[in-house]
Amino acid sequence: MIGATRGEREEGSVEGIVAEAVIDLDAIAHNVALLAERALVDGDHPSSLMAVVKADAFGHGIIPVSQAALKSGASWLGVTSVEEALAVRGAGIDAPMLAWLYGTDDDFIAAIDAGVDLSVSSISHLESIVDAAEQAGRPALIHLKIDTGLTRNGVRFDDWPDLVRQARVREMDGTVRVHGIWSHLASADDPGNPSVPAQLAAFDRALEIARDSGLDPDLRHLANSAGILDVPQSHFDLVRAGIALYGVEPIDGHDNGLRRAMTLRGRAVNVKRVGEGTGVSYMHEYITPGETTVVLVPLGYADGVPRRVSNRGEVLIRGHRCRIAGRVAMDQFVVDAGDLPVELGDPVVLFGPGDSGEPTVQDWATWAETNPHEILTGIGARVPRHYLPIKPETLKNLEQEFADG
Ligand SMILES: *Cc1c(COP(=O)(O)O)cnc(C)c1O
Repeated sequence: MIGATRGEREEGSVEGIVAEAVIDLDAIAHNVALLAERALVDGDHPSSLMAVVKADAFGHGIIPVSQAALKSGASWLGVTSVEEALAVRGAGIDAPMLAWLYGTDDDFIAAIDAGVDLSVSSISHLESIVDAAEQAGRPALIHLKIDTGLTRNGVRFDDWPDLVRQARVREMDGTVRVHGIWSHLASADDPGNPSVPAQLAAFDRALEIARDSGLDPDLRHLANSAGILDVPQSHFDLVRAGIALYGVEPIDGHDNGLRRAMTLRGRAVNVKRVGEGTGVSYMHEYITPGETTVVLVPLGYADGVPRRVSNRGEVLIRGHRCRIAGRVAMDQFVVDAGDLPVELGDPVVLFGPGDSGEPTVQDWATWAETNPHEILTGIGARVPRHYLPIKPETLKNLEQEFADG
């Protein structure tokens, strides 16, 4: 591990791991506790927190993140596929969990057997899940999804009364239990966007229609990270935090005190002086403006370093920002370090918490013209993840908070 070997390493050599993502579980615990507190206190009644750990916990590692989140205030886990849900169960995690994205032929029997709640976003899905529940010999716990305006998943308003009626029939005969009714916000990260009150009103109407059909689920849920932090009326009984868990502010420019959890770094695996006018990397899209030191970093677009950041992105070496020189390649990129005294094996930080002058994942998203989610989930499988544990004092504070209610 880069941090552990720093200082012990011989000058001018490069041994061991040359690229890694360090995941600070203490930062995740801090963020979870902060979001759980907001769920508990804000809004008109206390809500529980679901940690959304889909896409390998936004690239941070689904199992360690799930465990850290459940220790620090989350009571639910959210995933997309049945496969992800079963992987979490396979690691011995038995917390309440909801899966929400699949065709009608997924392994719902295995999900029901494993005690995984299933989202229902069409009559066809309801029918498949009912069949699976009959075969499993136990009721499926389902969450009916209404499309309140995102126009992505969920049933249209026109089809809602029918879905609700059929679900109620199946609840009466014991094949399913409608555990939740839910929807997803389109633009909560844009304060003042009129779609937010429109979706809130539509959600209320959907709940009313469900109540009129005799459904009274325990869990109504709508809020994502931005909703949790900025729209207390969206909290209902459960809130679903994704990006904020990982320390990224869902609304640009807001500061809720979240801590970024991932640091992506590598080591300088080649360092050399080159003269003025030297073309660097494929197609020589960078020409050195003077004599300079070029540094090779063994991370490329196969690892999730976007090709878009060629000639644009920055890294931190020996406390100084240096710019990427020329095209990012599949496995590596070059940095122009100027006259910085860089040694072979020096750590190179691509992004991190942002408190030592290094770029943040938001900076990378800006350079790549995307969102931080795409950068984080894009960090490739061949980049090893290393975990910093939750600090004992953080755990002690959390226990104290739980004890105080
Ligand atoms: C990804 C996802 C979330 C988490 O959203 P963030 O904006 O990252 O908090 C919540 N709900 C659903 C349905 C999602 O797909």
